Amino acid sequence: MITGRNYIGNELSAKGAVIFKTFNPQLNVENKTLFFEATSVEIDDAVVLATKAFNEYSQISGTRKAVFLDAIADEILDLDDELIKMYCSESGLLEERAKGERVRTVGQLRSFAKLVEDGTWVNATIDTAQPNRTPTPKPDLRKMSVPLGPVVVFGASNFPLAYSTAGGDTAAALAAGCPVIVKSHPMHAGTGELVASAVIKAAEKTGMPNGVFSNLNSSGIAVGTQLVSHSGIKAVGFTGSIRGGRALFDLASKREEPIPVFAEMGSVNPVIMLPNALSNRAIELAKTYASSITLGTGQFCTNPGLILGLKSDGLSIFIKKLGKNILQSDPMCMLHPNILGAYNTNKQKVTSQNAIELVVDCTTDVKQNFARPAIMTVDGNVFLENTTLHQEVFGPFSVVVQCDNTEQLEKIISKLEGQLTGTVIADEKEEQNYKGAIGALQNRVGRIIFNGVPTGVEVCPSMTHGGPYPASTDSRFTAVGIHSIKRWVRPFSYQDWPNNLLPIELQNENPLEISRLVNGDQTISKITND
Ligand code: NAP
Repeated sequence: MITGRNYIGNELSAKGAVIFKTFNPQLNVENKTLFFEATSVEIDDAVVLATKAFNEYSQISGTRKAVFLDAIADEILDLDDELIKMYCSESGLLEERAKGERVRTVGQLRSFAKLVEDGTWVNATIDTAQPNRTPTPKPDLRKMSVPLGPVVVFGASNFPLAYSTAGGDTAAALAAGCPVIVKSHPMHAGTGELVASAVIKAAEKTGMPNGVFSNLNSSGIAVGTQLVSHSGIKAVGFTGSIRGGRALFDLASKREEPIPVFAEMGSVNPVIMLPNALSNRAIELAKTYASSITLGTGQFCTNPGLILGLKSDGLSIFIKKLGKNILQSDPMCMLHPNILGAYNTNKQKVTSQNAIELVVDCTTDVKQNFARPAIMTVDGNVFLENTTLHQEVFGPFSVVVQCDNTEQLEKIISKLEGQLTGTVIADEKEEQNYKGAIGALQNRVGRIIFNGVPTGVEVCPSMTHGGPYPASTDSRFTAVGIHSIKRWVRPFSYQDWPNNLLPIELQNENPLEISRLVNGDQTISKITND
C-alpha cells in the first residue's frame, strides 16, 4: 500500500484513522495513494515544534534564510518529472501549466531569498538620543520589522504549486522569519507531500531548526479549524472561497488572542468596455475575452466574470461574437468533481434568475469532469437590483451587463463588492469622458488594467494582488510579490538598547550597509557619536 504521510517538522508521521485519496479528473479515477489526515496530537506536535523553532529561526540572519529559500527552489527543481506527473494526475491541469507554475514558484522563492539577503526590507528607522533636550531628554529609539511567529498556510486548490505548499505565502513567511505549517489541500495532497519533502531536505541541508516547516494532510475542515484555533499560531494565509476564508477569519477573531487572517478570496473582476472601443473593435475584443474567460477553465481568481458596457450596436456585436467564440473553445477539465459541482450549482443559481438572457451555455457532450462554459447578459437595472447576479461563479462563466447610460454604469460599479482587479477598455482618450465610472472602479479594486485582460498575474514588486473585502480580508496588503512579506511581520522598537545587543540592522556601524531612516534622513551612513 502506498501511503501519504504528514511532515511534523523533519519526521514523517501517519498516526490517524482518517484516510483519503486524491482524484484524477482527466481519467475520472481515484489515485492510488492513501493519505493519512493529521490527528489532533500531530497538529499539536507540529505547533509545539514550530513554536520552539521560532526562537532560533526568528534570529537567523538574512543571508542564512536566503540560502534556505534558494535550497528549497533547488530541491523543487530536483523533483523534476515526478512532481510534474503528480501535479497533472491530481489537478487535471496540463503539463505546460504545471511547468509554468513551477517556474513561478521557484522564482518567488528566489526573489524572497534576494530580498532577505539584502536586508533593507526590515525598514530600519533610527532616532538617536538627545540627552540635553529640554524640557525632557529624548531617548534613543530604533525600529524594524520582526516576524510574527508560527504561520498556518492553507494550500489553494487552483494553484497546486504557486499558492500552496512552498508557494507565495510560505516563501514570504519563511523569508520574514516565521516557521510555517501548511494545511495541505486535499485535492493535491501528493503534490503537497513531494514539495514538502523538498522543503524538509532544504531545511536539513542548510541547518534550519527542526519545526521550521511542517505539512499536514486533511480531508475536511477539522485540521484547518484546529490549527487556526491553536494558541501557538500567530497568523494565517489562505486562498480560496469567500465562505472558507470568512469562516477562518471569524474563527481567528474569536480566539482569546485574535490573530490576522490574510485571505485572498472571490472576485468577479469587472471590465468596463467603453463605446468607441466596442464600436471599433468588438470582434477583436470578443476573441480576446473568450480566451481570458476560458483560460485555465476559468479557474483563476482574476477571471473576468463581469463585463459592463453601454447599450449600443458595438455591445450587441461583442455579446454575439463572445458567445460564438466561447462555443468554439475547446472544453476543458476542471480541478476536481467538487469544483465542477460548485461551478454547475453556482451557474444554475445565476442563470435561473428572472430577466436574464442566456447567450450561450454549451450543451455539446463533454467528457466527465469537463466544464461547459457559459455567457449570460442582463439589463443594468436588473443587475442593480439583484445581488445574486454579482456573485462569483468560479469557472468559465461571465455576465455581460447592458447599461442604459453612464450614470447607471457608475452606480453599478459603486455597488459592487470589493474586487482584485478592474479593467477599462477604451479608444482614443474616450476614458476622459468616464472619469466618474473609472474613479468608482478604482475605489472597488486592488489593481486597475487599461486595454488588457485581468488574467495573468505578473509576480513583481509593483504588483498588488488583493483588494477591498471580499477580494481579501485586508486590502492594505498584497498576496503576490516581495511586499507580501509585510503580512508576516510587526513593527518593533528598541529604546536605549546597548548597541552591541541590537540586531545588526539597527547597529551604529550598519554592517549590512542597508538604507535606513536616521533622524529623518534616508541614508546608508554609519552612526557616529560626533
Ligand atoms: P475552499 O472551500 O475555500 O477551501 C480551501 C481550503 O480551506 C480547503 O483546504 C478547506 O479545507 C479549507 N476550508 C474551507 N472552509 C473551511 C472552514 N469553514 N473551516 C476550516 N477550513 C476550511 O476552496 P476549494 O475547496 O479549493 O474550492 C471550492 C470553491 O472555492 C471553488 O469552487 C471556488 O468557488 C472557490 N475558490 C475560489 C478561488 C479564488 O481565487 N477566488 C480559489 C480557489 C477556490 P478542506 O478542503 O480540508 O475541507
